[in-house]
Amino acid sequence: MKLSQLGTELAGQGGALVLEDKIDLLGYRRDTSIAPGGNPSAAVIARSVEDVVATVTAANRRKVPLYVRAAGSTYAGGANPCDGAIVLDASALNRILKIDEDRGLALVEPGVTYGALLAELGRRGLTLGVVPLTGAAGTVGGAIASHGLGTGSPRYQSTGDEVAGLEVVLPSGEMLRTGSAALADAGFFARYAIGPDLTGMFLGANGSLGVITKIALWVHPKPEYQETFVLGFPDYDSGASFISALQIKDLTHNLWYGAGYEDKAIEARVIGAKPQFDRAALPRFCLALDARGANEDVARDRARIVAEARKFGGVDFALFDEIFFAKLRRDNTFWYSYAGYFARSMCALLMCSMANETIPRFFRVIEDNRETHPEFVWAGGLVLCRRGVHGAVIVFYNEREQWERVRIASERCCNELLGVGCVPYKSGRVWAPMMGRFGRYHATLARLKKALDPNGIMSPEILGL
Ligand SMILES: Cc1cc2nc3c(=O)[nH]c(=O)nc-3n(C[C@H](O)[C@H](O)[C@H](O)COP(=O)(O)OP(=O)(O)OC[C@H]3O[C@@H](n4cnc5c(N)ncnc54)[C@H](O)[C@@H]3O)c2cc1C
Repeated sequence: MKLSQLGTELAGQGGALVLEDKIDLLGYRRDTSIAPGGNPSAAVIARSVEDVVATVTAANRRKVPLYVRAAGSTYAGGANPCDGAIVLDASALNRILKIDEDRGLALVEPGVTYGALLAELGRRGLTLGVVPLTGAAGTVGGAIASHGLGTGSPRYQSTGDEVAGLEVVLPSGEMLRTGSAALADAGFFARYAIGPDLTGMFLGANGSLGVITKIALWVHPKPEYQETFVLGFPDYDSGASFISALQIKDLTHNLWYGAGYEDKAIEARVIGAKPQFDRAALPRFCLALDARGANEDVARDRARIVAEARKFGGVDFALFDEIFFAKLRRDNTFWYSYAGYFARSMCALLMCSMANETIPRFFRVIEDNRETHPEFVWAGGLVLCRRGVHGAVIVFYNEREQWERVRIASERCCNELLGVGCVPYKSGRVWAPMMGRFGRYHATLARLKKALDPNGIMSPEILGL
């Protein structure tokens, strides 16, 4: 296939594979989200940092928009290009460059998948602090560029909190190293060094401020023992108060995962497995916990957590653990999601963070939307963090017939979530229309973007920029 002038220029720079055929480009139009996609003019599969520099430089010179994409699994539209754009595919930048056990760091390229990295670390008795429940195919670069979280969040909070430093190709094509690695001889070992934290600028930026080409991540010893248990609560308020107590008393130290389930999810799973079970005896809210650590530490913490739960009307809900939560783990569904929902195919995912007291209002928004839009299946779930929680509203729809309508309903729901105090955590395109609501924060971000990317080539429209 003959390449265009731009394609020849991009391919001529290094070992990158350039795709321009419309059929080859079909898979680059959209990610898994409901956000609209576009028809890119080219995709560049970068194989080296030089390829990235060359692609960014060429895009800048020609003022062609450039979007970065890895596995495209983020449900937020951050990797969705506009028409005519170049997509920089970072998935082949997938080398584990170094596991430095002395420094407690792994230095990786952004396209490395969590599956590959965890397998390599596991051989050395190590693991990562925070891992999205993403399936083995999700990449580290995609997760940190979109504020990933998941397993490990009760202990370590967010994927970004586990980043010790970055190498980034700026929109100008210049290379930047952040943290202690700004001094080449020192390398990566301290995130907070020299002056303000420039690492943070690229975390959650969805590719709008530069292309991340190296990531230094903290690594941790793999916990020796793991068990799950579930606590049921009479309502969302008591569940929320319990979560606050858990966090403020530092009882999350040996918790690696916590998932909050609403009444509908509890009922569907319990009655689905045991049709004769008395629905009235089910709790309205439950928190499923995955504890890992030394055996005696887990046992001690579990006893303290259960005692704390009782103060808020919490009871042991072993049945849910047995038929659903622990079962997924035993079945070796390693990436067990907080609701097992993803198996149901097309869904809109509206992801947000909230303070614990907002939890009842978050579920109220879902309940209201269920009534207003019975044509979709609405679900909600929470992921426990060290502080606060993350929530996802999941809206199942029929892609062929309902795509336009589910987008309108989702946008309204996003506004309602903001109205009750939830804030986006995977913003991309899904939350882009609401960015104006973040006032001076967004204005400052736009100024920063203008300074780094005066031609506005990196991911236009993403994050409302
Ligand atoms: C079943 C399932 C469960 C999931 N569970 C979770 C979960 O629990 N927690 C969670 O956080 N996520 C979850 N996800 C979302 C997502 O899969 C992960 O966050 C994943 O790690 C993102 O990687 P990706 O390669 O798919 O990123 P992509 O979707 O390709 O990209 C995401 C964003 O990052 C930007 N980007 C990608 N690479 C770079 C780079 N090198 N430099 C700059 N910007 C870049 C893109 O432009 C885009 O804006 C889930 C997804 C699925 C399908």
